[in-house]
Amino acid sequence: MASDPPPSTGGAGLAGGGSAAAGAAEPADATDPALGPVRPGQPTPGAVGRVGPGAAEGLAELDGLGRRQRHELWMRRALQVAVTGPGPVIGPESSEAGPVADDVPVGAVIYGPDGTELAAGRNERELTGDPTAHAEVLALRRAAERLGRWRLDDCTLVVTLEPCTMCAGAIVLARISTVIFGAWEPKTGAAGSLWDVLRDRRLNHRPEVYGGVLEAENSAVLRAFFR
Ligand SMILES: [Zn+2]
Repeated sequence: MASDPPPSTGGAGLAGGGSAAAGAAEPADATDPALGPVRPGQPTPGAVGRVGPGAAEGLAELDGLGRRQRHELWMRRALQVAVTGPGPVIGPESSEAGPVADDVPVGAVIYGPDGTELAAGRNERELTGDPTAHAEVLALRRAAERLGRWRLDDCTLVVTLEPCTMCAGAIVLARISTVIFGAWEPKTGAAGSLWDVLRDRRLNHRPEVYGGVLEAENSAVLRAFFR
Protein backbone atom coordinates (compact mmCIF):
# COMPACT_ATOMS: atom_id res chain seq x y z
CA MET A 1 0.00 0.00 0.00
CA ALA A 2 1.23 3.42 -0.74
CA SER A 3 1.99 5.14 2.48
CA ASP A 4 2.59 8.55 1.11
CA PRO A 5 0.07 11.27 1.64
CA PRO A 6 -2.17 12.18 -1.27
CA PRO A 7 -0.18 12.74 -4.42
CA SER A 8 -2.15 15.67 -5.59
CA THR A 9 -4.90 16.20 -3.18
CA GLY A 10 -4.48 19.38 -4.78
CA GLY A 11 -6.87 21.65 -3.52
CA ALA A 12 -6.66 20.42 -0.02
CA GLY A 13 -8.50 23.32 1.37
CA LEU A 14 -8.32 25.65 -1.57
CA ALA A 15 -11.96 25.29 -2.40
CA GLY A 16 -13.05 26.25 1.03
CA GLY A 17 -13.74 22.78 2.35
CA GLY A 18 -17.48 22.74 2.26
CA SER A 19 -20.13 24.21 4.40
CA ALA A 20 -19.08 22.72 7.69
CA ALA A 21 -15.92 24.79 7.46
CA ALA A 22 -17.92 27.79 6.39
CA GLY A 23 -20.11 27.32 9.43
CA ALA A 24 -17.09 27.29 11.66
CA ALA A 25 -16.19 30.74 10.43
CA GLU A 26 -19.40 32.16 11.80
CA PRO A 27 -19.53 33.80 15.19
CA ALA A 28 -19.26 31.26 17.96
CA ASP A 29 -22.80 31.61 19.18
CA ALA A 30 -24.18 31.18 15.69
CA THR A 31 -22.80 27.63 15.50
CA ASP A 32 -23.77 26.60 19.01
CA PRO A 33 -26.64 24.12 18.63
CA ALA A 34 -28.24 25.59 21.72
CA LEU A 35 -28.14 29.18 20.56
CA GLY A 36 -27.99 29.04 16.80
CA PRO A 37 -30.90 30.20 14.70
CA VAL A 38 -32.89 27.51 12.96
CA ARG A 39 -32.95 28.35 9.31
CA PRO A 40 -35.97 27.42 7.25
CA GLY A 41 -35.70 23.99 5.76
CA GLN A 42 -32.89 22.89 8.02
CA PRO A 43 -33.11 20.28 10.73
CA THR A 44 -33.58 21.63 14.21
CA PRO A 45 -30.26 21.47 16.02
CA GLY A 46 -30.42 18.88 18.74
CA ALA A 47 -33.46 17.14 17.31
CA VAL A 48 -31.97 13.68 17.43
CA GLY A 49 -34.84 11.78 15.89
CA ARG A 50 -34.95 14.09 12.92
CA VAL A 51 -31.58 13.22 11.52
CA GLY A 52 -30.65 9.81 12.82
CA PRO A 53 -28.34 8.37 15.45
CA GLY A 54 -25.24 10.27 16.29
CA ALA A 55 -26.06 13.26 14.16
CA ALA A 56 -26.77 15.57 17.06
CA GLU A 57 -23.57 14.58 18.78
CA GLY A 58 -21.81 15.00 15.48
CA LEU A 59 -23.02 18.55 15.16
CA ALA A 60 -22.06 19.37 18.71
CA GLU A 61 -18.63 17.87 18.26
CA LEU A 62 -18.05 19.71 15.04
CA ASP A 63 -17.97 22.98 16.90
CA GLY A 64 -14.40 23.92 17.51
CA LEU A 65 -12.99 20.99 15.57
CA GLY A 66 -10.36 21.55 12.95
CA ARG A 67 -10.84 20.12 9.50
CA ARG A 68 -8.45 17.26 10.09
CA GLN A 69 -10.15 16.29 13.33
CA ARG A 70 -13.52 16.46 11.64
CA HIS A 71 -12.29 14.22 8.83
CA GLU A 72 -10.95 11.71 11.33
CA LEU A 73 -14.17 11.76 13.32
CA TRP A 74 -16.17 11.04 10.19
CA MET A 75 -13.69 8.38 9.10
CA ARG A 76 -14.08 6.56 12.40
CA ARG A 77 -17.79 6.38 11.72
CA ALA A 78 -17.09 4.99 8.23
CA LEU A 79 -14.77 2.41 9.77
CA GLN A 80 -17.53 1.44 12.16
CA VAL A 81 -19.87 0.98 9.21
CA ALA A 82 -17.22 -1.12 7.43
CA VAL A 83 -16.91 -3.44 10.39
CA THR A 84 -20.43 -3.64 11.78
CA GLY A 85 -22.70 -2.42 8.97
CA PRO A 86 -24.72 0.78 8.58
CA GLY A 87 -26.89 0.18 11.66
CA PRO A 88 -30.61 -0.23 12.17
CA VAL A 89 -31.82 3.18 11.05
CA ILE A 90 -30.09 3.68 7.75
CA GLY A 91 -30.39 0.99 5.13
CA PRO A 92 -32.99 -1.23 6.75
CA GLU A 93 -32.75 -3.84 4.05
CA SER A 94 -29.18 -4.62 4.96
CA SER A 95 -29.02 -4.01 8.69
CA GLU A 96 -30.83 -7.11 9.83
CA ALA A 97 -28.37 -9.41 8.20
CA GLY A 98 -25.34 -7.52 9.45
CA PRO A 99 -21.97 -7.78 7.81
CA VAL A 100 -21.31 -10.85 5.76
CA ALA A 101 -18.01 -12.54 6.32
CA ASP A 102 -17.36 -12.82 2.59
CA ASP A 103 -17.75 -9.12 1.86
CA VAL A 104 -14.65 -6.96 1.89
CA PRO A 105 -15.17 -4.56 4.82
CA VAL A 106 -15.52 -1.17 3.16
CA GLY A 107 -17.76 1.48 4.68
CA ALA A 108 -19.06 4.78 3.34
CA VAL A 109 -20.97 7.60 5.02
CA ILE A 110 -22.46 10.74 3.47
CA TYR A 111 -22.75 13.93 5.46
CA GLY A 112 -24.99 16.84 4.64
CA PRO A 113 -23.87 20.49 4.51
CA ASP A 114 -24.51 20.91 8.23
CA GLY A 115 -22.60 17.79 9.23
CA THR A 116 -25.69 15.64 9.55
CA GLU A 117 -25.24 11.99 8.66
CA LEU A 118 -27.52 11.39 5.69
CA ALA A 119 -26.76 7.81 4.77
CA ALA A 120 -24.29 4.99 5.13
CA GLY A 121 -23.43 1.88 3.21
CA ARG A 122 -21.23 -1.15 3.54
CA ASN A 123 -19.95 -3.21 0.68
CA GLU A 124 -22.62 -5.86 0.03
CA ARG A 125 -21.48 -7.44 -3.18
CA GLU A 126 -21.49 -10.99 -1.80
CA LEU A 127 -24.54 -10.47 0.38
CA THR A 128 -26.69 -9.26 -2.49
CA GLY A 129 -24.89 -10.80 -5.46
CA ASP A 130 -24.87 -7.32 -6.99
CA PRO A 131 -21.64 -6.28 -8.74
CA THR A 132 -22.50 -2.61 -8.16
CA ALA A 133 -23.25 -2.94 -4.44
CA HIS A 134 -20.14 -1.07 -3.34
CA ALA A 135 -20.34 0.95 -0.12
CA GLU A 136 -20.21 4.30 -1.94
CA VAL A 137 -22.97 3.45 -4.42
CA LEU A 138 -25.28 2.22 -1.66
CA ALA A 139 -24.63 5.33 0.42
CA LEU A 140 -25.23 7.60 -2.61
CA ARG A 141 -28.52 5.89 -3.39
CA ARG A 142 -29.72 6.14 0.18
CA ALA A 143 -28.70 9.78 0.54
CA ALA A 144 -30.47 10.68 -2.70
CA GLU A 145 -33.55 8.80 -1.61
CA ARG A 146 -33.54 10.59 1.70
CA LEU A 147 -33.14 14.04 0.17
CA GLY A 148 -35.53 13.25 -2.66
CA ARG A 149 -33.09 14.34 -5.35
CA TRP A 150 -30.10 12.99 -7.21
CA ARG A 151 -27.98 16.11 -6.70
CA LEU A 152 -25.90 15.87 -3.55
CA ASP A 153 -24.24 19.27 -3.78
CA ASP A 154 -22.44 20.39 -0.66
CA CYS A 155 -22.46 16.86 0.70
CA THR A 156 -19.34 15.02 1.82
CA LEU A 157 -18.72 11.35 1.11
CA VAL A 158 -16.39 9.55 3.51
CA VAL A 159 -15.16 6.08 2.57
CA THR A 160 -12.59 3.79 4.13
CA LEU A 161 -10.94 2.80 0.83
CA GLU A 162 -10.01 4.75 -2.28
CA PRO A 163 -13.00 4.61 -4.65
CA CYS A 164 -12.90 2.45 -7.79
CA THR A 165 -13.77 3.81 -11.24
CA MET A 166 -17.46 2.96 -10.88
CA CYS A 167 -17.80 4.68 -7.53
CA ALA A 168 -15.70 7.66 -8.55
CA GLY A 169 -17.97 8.03 -11.59
CA ALA A 170 -21.09 7.82 -9.44
CA ILE A 171 -19.64 10.38 -7.01
CA VAL A 172 -19.06 12.84 -9.86
CA LEU A 173 -22.55 12.25 -11.26
CA ALA A 174 -24.06 12.90 -7.83
CA ARG A 175 -22.19 16.24 -7.62
CA ILE A 176 -20.68 15.35 -4.27
CA SER A 177 -18.61 18.33 -3.11
CA THR A 178 -15.99 16.67 -0.96
CA VAL A 179 -14.58 13.15 -0.88
CA ILE A 180 -12.55 11.84 2.04
CA PHE A 181 -11.05 8.38 1.78
CA GLY A 182 -8.89 6.22 4.01
CA ALA A 183 -6.58 3.58 2.57
CA TRP A 184 -5.04 3.97 -0.86
CA GLU A 185 -5.87 1.19 -3.32
CA PRO A 186 -2.99 0.89 -5.77
CA LYS A 187 -4.65 -1.92 -7.74
CA THR A 188 -8.01 -0.32 -8.57
CA GLY A 189 -8.05 3.18 -7.08
CA ALA A 190 -9.59 5.91 -9.22
CA ALA A 191 -8.88 8.83 -6.93
CA GLY A 192 -5.19 9.19 -7.64
CA SER A 193 -3.71 5.67 -7.71
CA LEU A 194 -4.51 4.21 -11.15
CA TRP A 195 -6.76 6.98 -12.39
CA ASP A 196 -7.93 10.27 -11.02
CA VAL A 197 -11.53 10.35 -12.11
CA LEU A 198 -12.52 12.70 -9.29
CA ARG A 199 -10.21 15.45 -10.45
CA ASP A 200 -10.16 14.89 -14.19
CA ARG A 201 -10.23 18.35 -15.70
CA ARG A 202 -12.25 17.11 -18.65
CA LEU A 203 -15.22 16.55 -16.37
CA ASN A 204 -17.44 19.45 -15.44
CA HIS A 205 -17.65 18.53 -11.78
CA ARG A 206 -14.60 17.94 -9.61
CA PRO A 207 -15.00 17.34 -5.89
CA GLU A 208 -12.38 18.32 -3.40
CA VAL A 209 -10.46 15.19 -2.37
CA TYR A 210 -8.65 14.22 0.80
CA GLY A 211 -6.90 10.83 0.77
CA GLY A 212 -5.08 8.73 3.35
CA VAL A 213 -7.20 9.79 6.33
CA LEU A 214 -6.60 7.32 9.18
CA GLU A 215 -4.81 5.22 6.62
CA ALA A 216 -3.14 2.91 9.14
CA GLU A 217 -6.44 1.96 10.80
CA ASN A 218 -8.21 1.51 7.50
CA SER A 219 -5.42 -0.61 6.04
CA ALA A 220 -5.30 -2.75 9.17
CA VAL A 221 -9.01 -3.62 8.87
CA LEU A 222 -8.55 -4.65 5.24
CA ARG A 223 -5.37 -6.59 5.94
CA ALA A 224 -7.10 -8.49 8.73
CA PHE A 225 -9.86 -9.44 6.30
CA PHE A 226 -7.54 -10.74 3.61
CA ARG A 227 -5.25 -12.57 5.99
ZN1 LIG B 1 -16.39 1.03 -5.95
